[in-house]
Amino acid sequence: MTRLRTTAVHGGRDDLADLGVHALPIDLSTTYPVPDQAEGGHALQAFADGAAHAGSPVYARLHNPTVARFERALAALEGTSAAVAFGSGMAAVTAVVQAACVLTGKPHVVAVRPLYGGTDHLLSSGLLGVRTTYTTADRVADAVTPDTGLVVVETPANPNLDLLDVAAVVARAGDVPVVVDNTFATPVLQNPAALGAAYVLHSGTKYLGGHGDVLGGVVACAEEHAGPLRQVRIVTGAVLHPLGGYLMHRGLATLPLRVEAAQRGAVELARRLAGHPGVEFVRHPSLPGADPAGLVGTQMRGPGAVLALATREDPVAVVRRLALVTPAVSLGSVDTLIEHPAALTHRLVPGEAREASGVPANLLRLSVGLEDVEDLWDDLDQALSGPRAMRRTPSSPRGARELVETH
Ligand SMILES: *Cc1c(COP(=O)(O)O)cnc(C)c1O
Repeated sequence: MTRLRTTAVHGGRDDLADLGVHALPIDLSTTYPVPDQAEGGHALQAFADGAAHAGSPVYARLHNPTVARFERALAALEGTSAAVAFGSGMAAVTAVVQAACVLTGKPHVVAVRPLYGGTDHLLSSGLLGVRTTYTTADRVADAVTPDTGLVVVETPANPNLDLLDVAAVVARAGDVPVVVDNTFATPVLQNPAALGAAYVLHSGTKYLGGHGDVLGGVVACAEEHAGPLRQVRIVTGAVLHPLGGYLMHRGLATLPLRVEAAQRGAVELARRLAGHPGVEFVRHPSLPGADPAGLVGTQMRGPGAVLALATREDPVAVVRRLALVTPAVSLGSVDTLIEHPAALTHRLVPGEAREASGVPANLLRLSVGLEDVEDLWDDLDQALSGPRAMRRTPSSPRGARELVETH
């Protein structure tokens, strides 16, 4: 086993030398010749039974070699025997619920809030035929029933950076598998499978891709859990496109460097923002009092590069004044992104539940990118310092049309 940065660069590339290529090959085939149709039938049966590979991929919904390389690389980074990739983070969450609850006939989920708004909404919507009990990390054992198929947690949680002790939650869940959404920490900072999590889930759209140009999801787990996930993926068609697999695999090579650099910026900005008169409070695991259980340095190798800040002024006005920071949802990109969870990512979480789980209406989520930290500070400082400072001039669609018409 190589170390983190080496694994990030070399993982999933073991067959490239034999292929005589250096860059990751992108296989766009939707179908594969099966001259011996009986043999093709055996391969198809193997995939339908949950196999990772067979003689021929047969059809791209069953298997894709480019995606499979990305899966091997991600599994190596998470320290699991397998990983299964999906077309988005939400497709991955859906597949985990289907494999752990629907396939096993255990239609009850226990979830700890806050969660990413999409996950929260999926679990409470009834769409997958499961019932969800929301609870706190210390009460998981009380919420588990004989019908419980899955415990769902995030740490650090989206959007307020709450931390929870994964090993303690796994112990409280007993026999029930736990899925840890590891999107915020990435395998660079945390490996929940080593702490007993059955499923480690990523929205690959965020840090794994890392450049804001690919949508995907992936679940790292033991082979015993991977088989049912692959079966679900084949049946529902929630596959990752090979271009997405390529982009996320390429992203992994620089993942440790990107996360470490962005984290340095986040630690500095969290410290400065906590002392800013326009800020009510800041949430980041690096700040004093933010990590009473001492999880940073034990469970996590670092506090991460996402922080949240509660503004004294209307957060919408603060965002409007930003000139450098990108006002957009998502996170983990090379550029710094800011968004208002109550308006956007957590809009579908009922207001009372959102507030009760520590996500007030004046909270902004900041995903720190790779810019010079002094430039980010200048922009945040002026935006938080009130309306007299520099204003962003939004390019209105009307203005754009006029520009076109006058040319
Ligand atoms: C974005 C996100 C998701 C959903 O991922 P998509 O790729 O957008 O479907 C799930 N969990 C967390 C923590 C996220 O930030």
